[in-house]
Amino acid sequence: MEVKTGRILGMGSYPNFDLNDPRDLTFTGMYTREQVDAMKEEDKTKALSSIWRNFCISDTYEPGSTYKPFTVASGLESGKLAGNESFYCGGYEIIDGVQVKCSHTAGHGPLDVEMAVAESCNAALMQMSYKIGIPTFTRYQSIFGFGKKTGIDLPGEVNAAKLLYTADTMTDLDLAVNSFGQNFNVTMVQMAAGICSIINDGKYYQPHLVDRIVNSDGETVETFEPKLLKQTISPETSANLRKYLRAVVEKGTAISAKVEGYDVGGKTGTAEKFPRNKINYLVSFLGFAPVDEPELLVYVVIDEPNVENQANSKLALDLCQAIMSRVFPYYGVTKLDGTSTRDVTMVDVNDVSWVYESENNTEGTEIWEPGTSFSDGADVHFDTEDDSSDDYPDWGGVDMGGDGYYGSDSGDTGEWTGDEDTGGDTGEWTGDEDTGGDTGEWTGDEDTGGDTGEWTGDEDTGGDTGEWTGDEDTDEDTGGSGEDAGYTED
Ligand SMILES: [Zn+2]
Repeated sequence: MEVKTGRILGMGSYPNFDLNDPRDLTFTGMYTREQVDAMKEEDKTKALSSIWRNFCISDTYEPGSTYKPFTVASGLESGKLAGNESFYCGGYEIIDGVQVKCSHTAGHGPLDVEMAVAESCNAALMQMSYKIGIPTFTRYQSIFGFGKKTGIDLPGEVNAAKLLYTADTMTDLDLAVNSFGQNFNVTMVQMAAGICSIINDGKYYQPHLVDRIVNSDGETVETFEPKLLKQTISPETSANLRKYLRAVVEKGTAISAKVEGYDVGGKTGTAEKFPRNKINYLVSFLGFAPVDEPELLVYVVIDEPNVENQANSKLALDLCQAIMSRVFPYYGVTKLDGTSTRDVTMVDVNDVSWVYESENNTEGTEIWEPGTSFSDGADVHFDTEDDSSDDYPDWGGVDMGGDGYYGSDSGDTGEWTGDEDTGGDTGEWTGDEDTGGDTGEWTGDEDTGGDTGEWTGDEDTGGDTGEWTGDEDTDEDTGGSGEDAGYTED
């Protein structure tokens, strides 16, 4: 999601389906052709509804620790927390006679607000919730958009109104466990829109997918501007939260979320699912960059990871890190050094026979498959059939400017066009391969040699002089045409 607009640039869930053939159940890999053929119609319908479901907007879950920034923001913004408090984690809290454990059961010891977030300490969050109190906590849940639809421009958004406690129904124990994201439900789109407001100076934008509608002639019929709905917190509270979320990645539970060259903030989450028998978990990670002026947010949720030990937020963290490290350069997220390099993907090679990237004029790597990405501004060289810019690679609408280079630079003089050339020729040469020092005009498939004058044909191994035309030639003819041995035949 674009942090400053609420635009959703990418959204996906698994099991997925083939958009071009949405009724193909085998696409998921969950069913074989035989199994699908043996299915009753109603089972097929049920299975299809399940793969068509969009988890991001239609399913709810307990957010777990990714909710902690919301609790801290509620406390700071309401003034119930000053931000300079210190907490002590002995591994658990007791509320109304019930012991509620911290994830680190041995206890985190003394923590300030930043380290409580960075270390994801449940005890410190519960202690914050005592100060925040039920009315303020529930008021801010509503301010951040929980318990209501976001109004995203997609069908099937779940009505989330009954998934939260109200100030009247919440007990002290509910408040305590809610503070670290347990015992109430959210959707991914609520979480993403809410966290974007927390890191974007409190500005809450309505999440949306559609930018514009075009007609069959490609003319824009309608444009949708980002919609600012409300101010959830002040820019000052937002700045503090960004600092805490940077600490999570710098020195807390998400050090491995770092992406080389970028200033990344984020929050991990591990939520034990019902029944709470320590078997099934939902793990998640929210990551964004750059921390001071956030541009992109990536949110990954894995519901019941298919592994032995599910209680490992690293599964979501690693996936999110892998996405961020590809998406940040693709989108052009600003780096730590203030620059932003956008990756440009070669959509079509067109009539190019090779492309290579060279840095600082040193030898580069030859890469000429469509789909290959280069940094915008990279020193890209390519070879075309002729000088026409129509033959340049298709960079997906991006103007690579003067970075392209066509032709060969093997020391030829004059015009040369072809697939390969190793040679020092003089004059015009056209063909597939040429290894040779020829003089004059040469046209054909292969040439190994030092000819003088005009030569046209399929193969030539020889130092001919004058004009020669034919299929094969293996000796040093002088004038004429045909298939060698005197070259008189055609
Ligand atoms: Zn703790």
